[in-house]
Amino acid sequence: MRVVRVLHEKKAHWGIVEAENICLLKEPPFKAVLRSRKYIPIAKACLLAPSLPSKIVLVGLNYRDHARELGMKVPKEPVIFLKPTTALLAPVADIVLPLQVRRLDYEAELAVVIKRRAKNVPENRARDYILGYTCCNDVTARDLQKKDGQWTRAKSFDTFCPVGPWIETNLNPADLTVCSYLNNKLRQKSSTRNLIFSVPKLVSFISRVMTLLPGDIISTGTPPGVGRMKPNDCIDVAIEGIGHLRNCVVKEAVV
Ligand code: MG
Repeated sequence: MRVVRVLHEKKAHWGIVEAENICLLKEPPFKAVLRSRKYIPIAKACLLAPSLPSKIVLVGLNYRDHARELGMKVPKEPVIFLKPTTALLAPVADIVLPLQVRRLDYEAELAVVIKRRAKNVPENRARDYILGYTCCNDVTARDLQKKDGQWTRAKSFDTFCPVGPWIETNLNPADLTVCSYLNNKLRQKSSTRNLIFSVPKLVSFISRVMTLLPGDIISTGTPPGVGRMKPNDCIDVAIEGIGHLRNCVVKEAVV
């Protein structure tokens, strides 16, 4: 099942994709999926970021092939950081290159959406706490990341967290191809079988730090091949079994 959020008659609604249409839901899909009788053609739908998280937790270096590329040791524990929810960006909407940023990078990542309140979850029960999976672009101001030492500013600008286009609920995350395409040219390609810390391990680890709530997003790290985006570039994050998340880059307007 593909879960979306969509703007309809000026209001945000949850929905599910059924063939060429979106069936609107009566309530958020965390406890049960209750269909309404309202359908919108997907071609005309204005998709929003497919979740409303209380927090977005991301994982640093988490692909063995990316660690090799950087000449870095495989970490013993996940390194986690946060993005504010104000960084969320809908599918198709534009990534804004801030005036103060000199180097803007894409990072294609598999993201996990949490289904129910999760605290101290054992790894072997993690699956029960996951609603599904979506694409995330961990947009990063690489110059500021290096300059600041810690990552909050570099990762947190508005529009720096494109997510979508939907949450795929029926997917095994153990061996999925994760790619990015810059202006339709392949730039990143790996498989989640190269993850240093698996999805269940991450859910368990993070839930031992902070309580995860329905809708929270965990982005699982990026494969090798990250690179620069410039204004007018378009970037696709493509994940096997989910689809494409495409956003283009515009310059921040001078006010
Ligand atoms: Mg990342």
